[in-house]
Amino acid sequence: MVRAIVGGNWGDEGKGKITDMLGAQSDVVVRFQGGANAGHTIINEYGRSALHLLPSGVFNPHVTNVIAQGVALDLEKLFHELDTEVLSKGVPSPKLLISDRAHVLLPYHIQFDTLEEMRLAEKAYGSTKSGIAPFYSDKVMKKGIQVCEIFHDDLLMNHLCELAELKNAMLINVYHVDQRTPRTEEEKKLFSLIDPKALFDLLVSFRERLRPMVGDAAAFLHRSIREGKKILLEGQLGSLKDTDNGIYPMVTSSSPLAGFACVGAGIPPWSIQEVTTVVKAYSSSVGAGAFVSEILDPNTAEDLRRRGGDKGEYGATTGRPRRVGWFDVVATRYGCMMQGTTGVALTNIDVLSYLDQIPVCVAYELDGRRIDEFPVTPLLDRCKPVIEYLPGWKCDITKARTFDELPENARKYVEFIEKSIGYPVSMVSNGPARESIIYR
Ligand code: GDP
Repeated sequence: MVRAIVGGNWGDEGKGKITDMLGAQSDVVVRFQGGANAGHTIINEYGRSALHLLPSGVFNPHVTNVIAQGVALDLEKLFHELDTEVLSKGVPSPKLLISDRAHVLLPYHIQFDTLEEMRLAEKAYGSTKSGIAPFYSDKVMKKGIQVCEIFHDDLLMNHLCELAELKNAMLINVYHVDQRTPRTEEEKKLFSLIDPKALFDLLVSFRERLRPMVGDAAAFLHRSIREGKKILLEGQLGSLKDTDNGIYPMVTSSSPLAGFACVGAGIPPWSIQEVTTVVKAYSSSVGAGAFVSEILDPNTAEDLRRRGGDKGEYGATTGRPRRVGWFDVVATRYGCMMQGTTGVALTNIDVLSYLDQIPVCVAYELDGRRIDEFPVTPLLDRCKPVIEYLPGWKCDITKARTFDELPENARKYVEFIEKSIGYPVSMVSNGPARESIIYR
């Protein structure tokens, strides 16, 4: 049985909590796309952990955690995360399987990401500078290094020399790094050329730690499917950041859609039986890009931001304040559709408990006309939110364990969302803790 837990909005919907909860009942948890550019926050008996690359099953010793071939694998960050967020907290060493076909994200991907954002200046994408866009561009251009290459000295060295030739030409001719005067250690790295031998040494330094973790992830997953194991596909970010279907170009460089797991993890399209799309009871978005239901008044936004999640709406990777807005029916309906949703997990509903009335963006107004379909980016930039107000409930709801225990107005809020997006809300998350969950 394969189930995907994916985001229906712009990311940060609370997928980490839902995956951690459902991960306990799974045999396998799989990351199939993205890299260390977004973070999951997980709160359990080991405390609060921010995971960026590791699958959320790492806290459950019986779970096999797969980093599949679609992931942007930054080995430095992976091992750092394993040491600081998992092992140092006393969690038993997790079962980890890394696809031998996954590509490795190299320090120069981060360098190119940073230089490109600098070149764009005020037109920058608001990248997390984790190297994701240069990484996936290289992969598609057939200029990437696969994990399996790390175990072949000559092949790796030759490949790195070839890549360095091309990359150094770009560093000199596009970014003019040879003409810059670095002022800090960081700038020294940023304005330097690539030394293939240093890269070789770096990759080889991970080799022995990596060796027992590397294998044929697709074969393992096909076997697990045949054996009827419970497999959880863990998406990163959300539908609206999908390269093909999102708010292009303010998107991520891989596909956060459940369907992409068939490619990124190599599993059969027919194997995914359930798609649980995680959706937030209000909206939040990091980085630039159209955000129709955004709260523009700074005080109103800050009121919501500081109450959001378990520590306020600040990026798990960058610490940046997230842009916040009201629930967006148009964007969420589209986001759920693109995921192929079978059930919605509505999170963070407790965050709205302070409001007398709750604004909801029910449609967009485009050039004086009301629209219900999520439009392309140039039109999206011109859309204004059509707001309806729902009555608030003004009390703490984090202790409710059944739908009936929620106050009437909270139930009505959930039912309103369910009806307007057209997908069943099968779970309601009413607090950051694992126990704060209501199944319907
Ligand atoms: P993800 O990337 O989708 O996993 O989202 P994050 O984990 O970055 O962001 C979700 C934030 O919301 C985290 O701080 C969670 O601890 C928190 N969270 C998850 N579900 C709930 C909920 O129902 N209520 C509240 N208040 N916080 C939640």
